[in-house]
Amino acid sequence: MKSKKRRKFISIVGARPNFIKIAPVLKNLKAYKGIDSLLLHTGQHYDKEMSKIFFDDLKLPKPDIYLDAGGRGGKNKEITKMMSSLECVLSQEKPDLVIVVGDVNSTVAGAIVASRLSIPIAHIESGLRSFDLSMPEEINRIVTDSLSNLLFTPSREANENLYREGIRRNKVHYVGNVMIDTLTSFRRQINSNTRALRVLGINERQYAMLTLHRPSNVDKPEDLRKIIEAISFIQDKVKIIFPVHPRTMSSLEKFNFSKSLARKKNIRLVPPMGYLDFLTLINKSLFVITDSGGIQEETTILGVPCLTVRKNTERPVTVAEGTNTIVGTDPKEIIKESQKILEGKGKAGRIPELWDGNAAKRIVEILVN
Ligand code: UDP
Repeated sequence: MKSKKRRKFISIVGARPNFIKIAPVLKNLKAYKGIDSLLLHTGQHYDKEMSKIFFDDLKLPKPDIYLDAGGRGGKNKEITKMMSSLECVLSQEKPDLVIVVGDVNSTVAGAIVASRLSIPIAHIESGLRSFDLSMPEEINRIVTDSLSNLLFTPSREANENLYREGIRRNKVHYVGNVMIDTLTSFRRQINSNTRALRVLGINERQYAMLTLHRPSNVDKPEDLRKIIEAISFIQDKVKIIFPVHPRTMSSLEKFNFSKSLARKKNIRLVPPMGYLDFLTLINKSLFVITDSGGIQEETTILGVPCLTVRKNTERPVTVAEGTNTIVGTDPKEIIKESQKILEGKGKAGRIPELWDGNAAKRIVEILVN
């Protein structure tokens, strides 16, 4: 019998959430002997706390290709820099498939370049829509989905979003949530690990977690001030642990907010954390205040109430079925919903369909066959 030709897949990652989502996909791909699976890191996130720590925690293989195309000097510049580096690499490597994940600049840069080189594209975490084009990630999602050949979705409404945009049904596969695959595989460690609590001197369910990094919340002083106002009030009632994203740290410093925040006795500003410590802290917290996409999903699985400081979400299943509440950015609303949780009226939820730890297995079976 003639042996089948080996195939080359290149997975493109660049940012913190990408590393978490690609881990289970690479693990499943490794089991297939006829596939050469390469990992390409664009360099979008380059700080140790935003990149290397995730490779260590998640035991990701060292990237086969590193582009160092991370962005200083504007987000569009970042995309074009990545595109020109990606064009050289992908023309040379000639993969049979490019895999992109999520909605960051590396995702859309990878999709545009692969598409122009006629390389098939698989998009993981496809079909999410906030219907808010002022959000750069929404543009990345729409462009990436429109160029992809295989679209893997985490929820049924994501399929509906894609059909509405005219994407052919046979390209779309509802497979579940790869971020939850990673969480499931580390669940035991996350449950038993108490190191981060010890280091911070905090006790289970006696603190809240805060993360902020969306441009709409942190880029303008008036937006960031509103959230800080709410947080300053809430910290009188409960300790708040705040791992600060580099983008947010530079805004806090630029707008002169960092010193006054650091003086508040119940807010603890810490650097961005590695996956295991961060998820341990989320798991054992009383509640979470965030504008992150992925954390809305993780809190749903962990059964921890989540207040999302945004006007909308591209992950409505976490509101309809999970523990998430969209509170907007009005300080009164943030305080009101926090108080409800402090009075023991936090939202409970159930686990969405197919968020069972096997999404990557389903994806890889489709990719390989
Ligand atoms: N995360 C982390 N350490 C932190 C903050 C977040 O490990 O200090 C994880 C979080 O649990 C989730 C992912 O990073 O898995 C989400 O990344 P981010 O909020 O940056 O991106 P988004 O999901 O909004 O695209």
